[in-house]
Amino acid sequence: MLKRRDFLKTGALAALSPLPTEADELAGQNEKTVQEPKRELPVVKETDVVVCGGGPAGFAAALSAARNGAKTTLIEVHGCLGGVWTSSLLSNIIDSNGKPGIMKELIDRLNATDAQYTATKYDAELMKWTLEEMCKEAGVEVRLHTRVTAAYRDKSNKIEYIATESFSGREAWKAKVFIDTTGNGELAARAGCQFDVGEPETGKVQPMSLMVILSGLNEADLVTAGYIKGPGKDGSPTEPGNKKLHAEILKAGIDASYTMPSFFSIRPDMVALMVNHQYGVSALDAGAVTKATLEARNEVNRIVDALRKMGGMWSKLRIVTTAAQIGIREGRRIHGLYTLTKEDLINGAKFDDGVCTVNFVVDIHALARGEGGGYSSGGVKMKPYQIPLRSLIAKDVNNLMMAGRCISGDFYAHASYRVTGNAVPMGEAAGKVAAKAALTNRLPKDISWDKA
Ligand SMILES: Cc1cc2nc3c(=O)[nH]c(=O)nc-3n(C[C@H](O)[C@H](O)[C@H](O)COP(=O)(O)OP(=O)(O)OC[C@H]3O[C@@H](n4cnc5c(N)ncnc54)[C@H](O)[C@@H]3O)c2cc1C
Repeated sequence: MLKRRDFLKTGALAALSPLPTEADELAGQNEKTVQEPKRELPVVKETDVVVCGGGPAGFAAALSAARNGAKTTLIEVHGCLGGVWTSSLLSNIIDSNGKPGIMKELIDRLNATDAQYTATKYDAELMKWTLEEMCKEAGVEVRLHTRVTAAYRDKSNKIEYIATESFSGREAWKAKVFIDTTGNGELAARAGCQFDVGEPETGKVQPMSLMVILSGLNEADLVTAGYIKGPGKDGSPTEPGNKKLHAEILKAGIDASYTMPSFFSIRPDMVALMVNHQYGVSALDAGAVTKATLEARNEVNRIVDALRKMGGMWSKLRIVTTAAQIGIREGRRIHGLYTLTKEDLINGAKFDDGVCTVNFVVDIHALARGEGGGYSSGGVKMKPYQIPLRSLIAKDVNNLMMAGRCISGDFYAHASYRVTGNAVPMGEAAGKVAAKAALTNRLPKDISWDKA
């Protein structure tokens, strides 16, 4: 029997059957195990499409599935939609420029509600509201505060039902098609899909960062002092990866773990800050993510305190809030019908079933302390390339799709397509295909993209 320890390390399930039970998962984690009693679960919903994870990809997937006629439920563990956009306070959208469909519609909506400060910077609070309103208007049933914890397959290798834990206890949900948009590929892993994690040679993953919203800074002062550039190409302030800011923090007495920290100006008097790197943290290990969160919150508080004590332009600096969820750059990459590779990026690959074009570079944040503390392209020079629909369809489970950062790609491809301007069109495509498959009683792999 494959033990949980091996499963976490390799993602290699030797055989698809039998599925790992929760007891199997516990075994190996501790010397001692307990046998959980069998119990009946209430089936709270039987529907067309269930989308698990309400981040940029999941929001778009659910919206798209509902708009294409499918009865759709979106399940999210946090108390708001948006994922890294909101629970992790990102405040910055990359690679949305020129993207049609839901991405454009969302930017227009954010502009209309004054949530969008520049072409790429937004107010995370208004983002939450906008996403909720758009889902409500499309008839998506949203369930917040609910974590997907298990998935069970039938004899035809389809997920028959998933189990969740929430204020309501343990519940079961049935659907014709499921979409994994949990970022970390949690649903697919629970369903027994194979996956990869990290750099191929070492298994190392990109670091995590805890975003901070600050008050007491004036955008004009930041531009004058050279901490943000302005005006940018679109006539609005932009931020460089900022060695000058790192040097200033060093002067204040702290060697920040991220050497290219960035301010994102989201209002004339409010900025977001990305200033730390938590290295070598597995997104598959709750204890490690907890430790990283505590260390990160300690570091960002110490940095802000130290800057404020320097006086001058920092004298009124305050943390408004730190993110509830530390920003996770990298988790599982679920095996799909096609795996996007570094070579596809170098060649600018195009596909008959291409669902969106990625223009963003390979962006690998230092994998370990002592590797410069910034980010690099890993030596890969990409040309704009497409993501094929097949990378959104699970290889090992028949009625499962993925969208967002857990799709099928290698370490380098993931470091490029992972940004939110691509997560949204991926979600939109997955939702459309899932709806078509569910409504015609077919599998996602049997839907051709040009007819979807
Ligand atoms: C620190 C940091 C900085 C970044 N900078 C940028 C940037 O400037 N611009 C940009 O565009 N991109 C940036 N990215 C990348 C981008 O934010 C992510 O790759 C993107 O959010 C991926 O979208 P997603 O929907 O796949 O995943 P996520 O945003 O991670 O959303 C996943 C959702 O699933 C939910 N979930 C997870 N597990 C479960 C479960 N078991 N049950 C129910 N719900 C679950 C989560 O709560 C979350 O809401 C950054 C990422 C990080 C971490």
